[in-house]
Amino acid sequence: MKDLIFTYLVKNSIYVNLTNRCPCACTFCLRQNGDGVFGSGPLWLKHEPSLEEVKESLDQWNLSQYDEVVFCGYGEPMERLDVLLETASYIREKSDVKTRVNTNGLGDLIWKRPTAQYLKGLIDCVSISLNACNKEDYLRLTRSKFGVESFDAMLKFAVDCKEYVPKVVMTIVDVVTSKEVQKRCQELCDKLGLTLRIRPYEKS
Ligand code: SF4
Repeated sequence: MKDLIFTYLVKNSIYVNLTNRCPCACTFCLRQNGDGVFGSGPLWLKHEPSLEEVKESLDQWNLSQYDEVVFCGYGEPMERLDVLLETASYIREKSDVKTRVNTNGLGDLIWKRPTAQYLKGLIDCVSISLNACNKEDYLRLTRSKFGVESFDAMLKFAVDCKEYVPKVVMTIVDVVTSKEVQKRCQELCDKLGLTLRIRPYEKS
């Protein structure tokens, strides 16, 4: 049933869909614009899965056969930080598979405290949507409910992650950024010691 997609396969990775909540309403978000993610069908949840439901869903897969387990979906996974961390811990117990969080980087604003530290030892990669090279453009694209402070908070989270997570990748979407913006994003990432990936228009 479409409303019970808690985990799904993308290429050779298992994706975990924890929530539809998100503080942003990005102009390019697949939630608004897409029919689903890589053929999974729409990922709208009738209810957010409990930890037990996520575990049960993960148990369908032989995790060791896959490249990664990725926390991603029609929403911001850091909205459900407790379940995310407990799920990541469960994955660690079961398998050596790598773990990744695809996030908008606004966890600190959601939780009103620094959050990168909680990922230590549980998450192998954090992929953060940079989206823009300045706070005004970022707000215009993401329409974050936290307003213009969102951009700086996202960058601080990214820099914090370097201390706790082995791999931190900033991403921008190719079709919504010009070459000039991509260049400025690269300069910003270089200044902060962050890796930038210019990705195609898809949620991966
Ligand atoms: S942060 Fe992600 S889930 Fe949230 S609106 Fe933007 S693209 Fe969609």
